[in-house]
Amino acid sequence: MEILRNADLKPYNTFGIAARAEALGRFHDLGQLRGLLGAPELSGLSRLILGGGSNVLFTRNWDGLVLLNEVPGLDVLREDDEHVWLRSGAGVVWHDLVLHAVANGWGGLENLSLIPGRVGAAPMQNIGAYGVELKDTFDSLEALKVDDGTMVTFRKEQCHFGYRESFFKREGKDRFVILNVTFKLSKRPALNTSYGNIGQELAKRGITAPTLRDVSDAVIAIRSSKLPDPKVIGNAGSFFKNPVVPLAVADAIRTEYPDVAAYPAGEGYVKLAAGWLIEKAGWKGFREDGFGVHKDQALVLVNHGGATGRNIFDLSTRILVSIHERFGVELEREVNII
Ligand SMILES: Cc1cc2nc3c(=O)[nH]c(=O)nc-3n(C[C@H](O)[C@H](O)[C@H](O)COP(=O)(O)OP(=O)(O)OC[C@H]3O[C@@H](n4cnc5c(N)ncnc54)[C@H](O)[C@@H]3O)c2cc1C
Repeated sequence: MEILRNADLKPYNTFGIAARAEALGRFHDLGQLRGLLGAPELSGLSRLILGGGSNVLFTRNWDGLVLLNEVPGLDVLREDDEHVWLRSGAGVVWHDLVLHAVANGWGGLENLSLIPGRVGAAPMQNIGAYGVELKDTFDSLEALKVDDGTMVTFRKEQCHFGYRESFFKREGKDRFVILNVTFKLSKRPALNTSYGNIGQELAKRGITAPTLRDVSDAVIAIRSSKLPDPKVIGNAGSFFKNPVVPLAVADAIRTEYPDVAAYPAGEGYVKLAAGWLIEKAGWKGFREDGFGVHKDQALVLVNHGGATGRNIFDLSTRILVSIHERFGVELEREVNII
């Protein structure tokens, strides 16, 4: 069991922020994880679980142990005429899981193509894109309870999934290490091509009867053209959640901005596009020293090089304040602040 001391965390976060961890250890299975948690030389250190580091912002060094999840494995647990139950190790790269499902003709994950990160972090914020969320195909997960070392199985209803929310992001935060996730995928998938530009992209390619692969390819093409690649410019995707507000708030905004982007979100509420609000407030393309707001995606804060996590956090606070002053709307950060 190799433990790195004073480890450089820059390669392990897609913002590319320079930060250090007092100790860092990788685990590939439950035994290695238990070994790290029980190691006498690491006892007393606070722990941080990391997958791909694509949804974290380090605003400080981590004075503790970083546990890098690299648990492998893709196994069919069972199947019937309609469905297959596929279990993935938490360290599998999310997009590899999607491609595996698509290649086998199992539907349900294709709209979630190319989301960065590892499978174990996906339930944390119930990842979603193009009209689909993790919870739509989620069956169960197994996690280690950190305080007593027992394994716990969580079924869907116990995870309290919501929009970019779950039990693991709230009450369960830092208390459980997710080791594997089981998905219930469809052998006769109903494709969801109505969201975003998927239909347009398929039409552009002359595809009228799309396959799972076609939908996945279309999503990959759209995402690649719209979202900044963290390998080129540091970022963690959407920095803020889309706020859900009472209808009256949206109506007040609409009197000044008739084009406000708003979507139904339950009786008396609508969801506003945070990116639209940020753009209207003039932040799109904002740049100061090594950090800023992406020039095409107002929802994405970026590290142009050399920014500190504090720089980016402080910029996010300025944006929060400005959106509140201008529209009376409270934005909430989606990215996990460390
Ligand atoms: C360019 C870009 C585009 C993105 N697009 C989307 C999108 O379309 N939709 C979307 O929902 N998200 C999106 N994201 C955000 C991110 O990809 C997801 O949140 C992803 O699930 C994070 O995975 P990760 O392995 O990188 O998690 P990390 O950043 O490593 O961790 C995130 C959180 O989960 C915890 N955690 C990680 N692994 C475990 C585990 N095994 N057990 C318990 N806790 C754990 C960590 O402690 C941390 O709090 C995007 C990010 C980028 C950079």
